[in-house]
Amino acid sequence: MAQNSFTQHCRQEADTTALAQKLASSLSHLFQADQTTHLNISLEGDLGAGKTTFARHLIQGLGYEGRVKSPTYTLCEPYPIQITNTKPPTTASITAHHFDFYRMRDPLEWQEAGFAEHFDEPGFCLVEWPEKAEGSLPAFDIEIHLISGDDENSRNISFKANSSQGTAVIENLQA
Ligand code: ADP
Ligand code: MG
Repeated sequence: MAQNSFTQHCRQEADTTALAQKLASSLSHLFQADQTTHLNISLEGDLGAGKTTFARHLIQGLGYEGRVKSPTYTLCEPYPIQITNTKPPTTASITAHHFDFYRMRDPLEWQEAGFAEHFDEPGFCLVEWPEKAEGSLPAFDIEIHLISGDDENSRNISFKANSSQGTAVIENLQA
């Protein structure tokens, strides 16, 4: 049966990195099958929980070789990503848009900044602090929650899928 949620304990940052890379691989399969699809993913948790760290390893896990910095001041950072398929040999271009809405002064600032169009472009949106948009964002296919554990480097990372695409991605993660 399709599992639409699961939690993993990450004892140290390397475990978080490995989990983000696993998600990258699962997303890559989805984009290989459909290069025009779009996914919305939220990253929730307190300051310092590891949202940006997770996003960085996810984006780099998909082959992006540049720096992935926190979008705290810009609200949005775009990352072009090439998804390559071996059979048949094809390359698709998608874009990961990484948002951080922590500093938004108004829940609709993201729309006024013209970011709404990114929410259905081929690729995916990763949103830190979605609650600052107060329900004005499109639905999330996958919600990721990061919670600090009982020591400095441990985290519990939970995934919840809200769509069939999201569920397929989460299922691959558990395999
Ligand atoms: P956020 O974006 O949630 O505010 P950051 O990713 O910017 O958090 O910061 C998380 C900090 O915690 C980083 O300095 C990172 O190195 C550290 N860290 C320690 N252990 C972990 C872990 N298991 N997973 C993620 N980050 C960790
Ligand atoms: Mg952050």
